[in-house]
Amino acid sequence: KKTITRLPEWLKTPIPVNQNYKKIKKDLRGLNLHTVCEEAKCPNISDCWGGSNKSAATATIMLMGDTCTRGCRFCSVKTAKAPPPLDPHEPENTAEALRRWGLGYVVLTSVDRDDLADGGARHFAETIMKIKQKAPTMLVEALTGDYAGDMEMVKKVALSGLDVYAHNVETTEALTPFVRDRRAKFRQSLEVLRTAKEAQPELITKTSIMLGLGETEEDLWDALRELRKNNVDVVTFGQYMRPTKRHMAVHEYVTPDKFELWRQRALDMGFLYCASGPLVRSSYKAGEAFIENVLK
Ligand code: SF4
Ligand code: SF4
Repeated sequence: KKTITRLPEWLKTPIPVNQNYKKIKKDLRGLNLHTVCEEAKCPNISDCWGGSNKSAATATIMLMGDTCTRGCRFCSVKTAKAPPPLDPHEPENTAEALRRWGLGYVVLTSVDRDDLADGGARHFAETIMKIKQKAPTMLVEALTGDYAGDMEMVKKVALSGLDVYAHNVETTEALTPFVRDRRAKFRQSLEVLRTAKEAQPELITKTSIMLGLGETEEDLWDALRELRKNNVDVVTFGQYMRPTKRHMAVHEYVTPDKFELWRQRALDMGFLYCASGPLVRSSYKAGEAFIENVLK
């Protein structure tokens, strides 16, 4: 199997820092809020936090601990069968800290908690409701797992007052068994997205696909067609980056031109908007994109 180790030029760009970013970082001090942006050393932090104003700034927060019950082959989050119990104060504390921080757009995500009867859906929904109580103008995106196919749990989150329901299919249907945890299924993920939209038609639904895992163009077209069939509004494309040598190898570093081509194709297919680029993550500048494309 082909293994690529050298990074192409377009992935070696230095991270720019702007004034807005510095201000937002300073405001975070003392709030005891842990962002994925900082903890994962995301290269987009200055873009996401430092947009033109704070009302468009985006950050991602991880709920329900740092230990996942699943083990996807692309992901570096640590794994256990029975992670520590949920912190019952997390919904309230997270909402309060976010209110004080005052960002425009927050992405809430979590590890998968197959050990909990409801997969953590109530906890997730409660966090969203608390944020909307304390900071009604803050836009909230939830990036959830598949709740092991329990669509009642998807509905619970979809009806909690959020603005965007995201669930990542991550890759094409053909590659799913080689990329995601064996409990994750492409069709089940489509059902999650469809169910969220049906439960609350005003929601924007969103998914993300990593490129560079060896997917074929044909399979990628199929994936996009299936997503549109299920009324998914937004898709993002980013480069798969191997977290450690124990994870899946990168099959290909997709060029920026190719990312742009897929962005155009997605828009032509009727997706409302699409972020696509080597460093794009599903939450990349999500606030700005939402404001420009949905609130305009
Ligand atoms: Fe944070 Fe996501 Fe933006 Fe990275 S892409 S800085 S994780 S919001
Ligand atoms: Fe990582 Fe999510 Fe897979 Fe868990 S379910 S291993 S957090 S990608």
